[in-house]
Amino acid sequence: MNTSIADNISRVRAQMAAACQSNGRDPGSVQLLAVSKTWSADAVRQAHAAGQTAFGENYIQEAVDKITTLRDLPLVWHCIGPIQSNKTRLVAEHFDWVHSIDRLKIAQRLSEQRPEHLPPLQVCIQVNVDGGETKSGVSPPDLPALAQAVATLPRLQLRGLMTIPEPAETEAQMRTVHRQAKDLFEQLRAQGLPLDTLSMGMSADMAAAIAEGSTLVRVGTAIFGQR
Ligand SMILES: *Cc1c(COP(=O)(O)O)cnc(C)c1O
Repeated sequence: MNTSIADNISRVRAQMAAACQSNGRDPGSVQLLAVSKTWSADAVRQAHAAGQTAFGENYIQEAVDKITTLRDLPLVWHCIGPIQSNKTRLVAEHFDWVHSIDRLKIAQRLSEQRPEHLPPLQVCIQVNVDGGETKSGVSPPDLPALAQAVATLPRLQLRGLMTIPEPAETEAQMRTVHRQAKDLFEQLRAQGLPLDTLSMGMSADMAAAIAEGSTLVRVGTAIFGQR
């Protein structure tokens, strides 16, 4: 890699600002989550030195090792990968956010296992907007009931939705799926849930996601390089 992590972060931030500007959005309305899965604690340190504080991880044990190593830095850790029942305690004890809630049982365990001395775990429900049968994420018809149930759990705070669309060829295709997610998000808000986070957009579809209302983009490759 001949560009540094710091250069990559400033380029991504500039692209985010440009996407906000061309869609009439406040640049402060979209947050950057740096996805550091497979990358070392040292790479995370470099990103932090460039002003990045929020990091996303997929693999629980790898993440917990990194979180422990980097205790000296004021970082905010987001779990964005699938969670098995036997991993909920680690997640509840080490992360600040979880984006990948896709069933009530996992949410209940996270709430029960969230330590008292920590603030509530901030969570998003992962929704399978484009309907791949084998994909994780709740299907749209099941979303409202799951969201209402998660919202009542005492040690979780439901913040919004997360999506991982299938790769699409064109900007228009990307935007169609993102718009469906945005519609589901607005429907839940209209039902009285005070949601403020729409986690959608990755390295390849960041601009399309911002155009359709994303409030948080999860960017790995464009910051750290090819995994
Ligand atoms: C790996 C991953 C990302 C980052 O993807 P890039 O294409 O590297 O930006 C974002 N979200 C989730 C859920 C991921 O697993």
